[in-house]
Amino acid sequence: MIKSKMKLGNFELFWLNGGRFEMDGGAVFGVVPKVLWKKKYPCNEENFVPIVSWPILIKTPETNILIETGIGNKLTDKQKKIFRVSEDWNVLNDLTELEVKREDIDYVILTHYDFDHAGGVLTTDDSNNINLTFPNARHIIQKAEWEDVLSPTIRSINTFWPINNEALRESDKLDLREGDSEVVKGIDLILTGGHNRGHQIVKIVSEGETAYHLADLLPTHAHYNPLWIMAYDNFPLDVISQKEIYEQRVLEEDAWIIFYHDPFMTACKFDAEGNIADKMPCLG
Ligand SMILES: [Zn+2]
Repeated sequence: MIKSKMKLGNFELFWLNGGRFEMDGGAVFGVVPKVLWKKKYPCNEENFVPIVSWPILIKTPETNILIETGIGNKLTDKQKKIFRVSEDWNVLNDLTELEVKREDIDYVILTHYDFDHAGGVLTTDDSNNINLTFPNARHIIQKAEWEDVLSPTIRSINTFWPINNEALRESDKLDLREGDSEVVKGIDLILTGGHNRGHQIVKIVSEGETAYHLADLLPTHAHYNPLWIMAYDNFPLDVISQKEIYEQRVLEEDAWIIFYHDPFMTACKFDAEGNIADKMPCLG
């Protein structure tokens, strides 16, 4: 089921169900004391918070672009238990609802290659073969991120799983970018680093309306304070400084912020005091 939608100029944005799971609140809010974060974001009695991975389909008049791909369908039962998956990846069914075939996706933008963003790049078919989910799409990733995916550290091997990159490596659908670049007119990528060395964000502009996908610089609306960052961030000081830069820019440009991990809000605008001034509701 489509989770949310919005119109931005003559682009249409749809949030697809790429999976729902739970994470430890301490990992999600880092050094922030629980007495503070629990006022902005709920948790259960075991301290787990609800998190989603909802890829964003952008339909422009000419192209179909997918930002992120969700957790995919390759998790084992054991992994689903560990990550407390409560809703499975349903992206292809959601696309069908929108009358978009997987062959119709022209670009897949990966802000970075953690498993909860890139797990849907490659999926298992009915015969148990692993294939590119979007066989005609160019998969856009920062070159630095891809280098790290191919040579993971003892920390990043826990999120850069070979099963999520092997078949892409062998395909001709990899589109590695260095620094800032354009996808199509109105959709630009900006290298920020921070969460990962090769983390990039997406700026979307159509007919004078603007939205930023800050990806894991701002995983949920509750992370708006630049100091409220995740324990997963590899370069925390860079996350803080990049948040300060782009949150200021969003304000100056009266832009929307769109979210990938937030089950409570898919898009919102903040005012200068950091309060939510406008928001898009989730549909389910
Ligand atoms: Zn993430």
